[in-house]
Amino acid sequence: IAEAKVSVLDRGFMFGDGVYEVLPAFGDRIFALDRHMARLERSLSALGIDNPLARAEWHDVLSRVLENYGATGKSVYIQVTRGVAARDHVLRSDVVPTVFVMCTEQRKSEPKPVVAITREDIRWQRCDIKVTSLLANVMLRQEAEDAGAFETILVRDGHLTEGAASNVFVVQDGTVKTPPYSEHLLPGVTRDIVVELLVQASIACEVSPITREELHAADEVWLTSSTRDILLVSKLDDRMIGSGGGGQMWSKASGLYLAYKHDQLSIEAQ
Ligand code: PLP
Repeated sequence: IAEAKVSVLDRGFMFGDGVYEVLPAFGDRIFALDRHMARLERSLSALGIDNPLARAEWHDVLSRVLENYGATGKSVYIQVTRGVAARDHVLRSDVVPTVFVMCTEQRKSEPKPVVAITREDIRWQRCDIKVTSLLANVMLRQEAEDAGAFETILVRDGHLTEGAASNVFVVQDGTVKTPPYSEHLLPGVTRDIVVELLVQASIACEVSPITREELHAADEVWLTSSTRDILLVSKLDDRMIGSGGGGQMWSKASGLYLAYKHDQLSIEAQ
């Protein structure tokens, strides 16, 4: 990290003109690698940046980074920016994308369940692209931290979108629900896997709009992300959710998800 250098004219630095991915890894294995690479390609293509590496080259870079990083449980961070050019909103010359890849040690797991707050979703209209310009997300997440909470759950036009750094599920009367994809939320790798596993297990699961009122009246609320798996929320805006931490359905979903993840990563049951 100390030796890596990026030009001050990199458009990632100047404009936040870039995309990223965070991939959970264990030893030399990455969980849901193909899904993350597919989303990276989708983000690049949405910004009109040519993917600088072929899939095999990406695999090679990732293997080398994983190999060189000691810890067993880790996350791989990939960032691709449009590249270095004279500072101008308009791009007037060909640029070569900047690629940055690093490993970080897996974060300590949160004391579960967690506390969340809700806020208006003040972000832009293309939250479906995983861009590095995360200022609104950073501000919203900081609000949670300052309020002694873990995550900020966002509401736009009276409807739940997602968390500042997670997707959100609710459980109501035995049915698990999560909002449909639109330009207002990120297609989450964890969210997709959770939906697939619930459907496979014949657990009632609906992808449909969720109002602010439904969010507050839910029996359970969960947050999903690659680095946190599935977290149960016990308190939202200072009110206990459902029975306040039972999370029976969460327990099932979490069990299914962790079993699947550990199977894919060949981790022995702990
Ligand atoms: N939504 C946002 C805004 C995120 O930043 C993240 C991940 O950090 C997610 C959702 C969850 O996505 P994934 O499950 O692919 O990590």
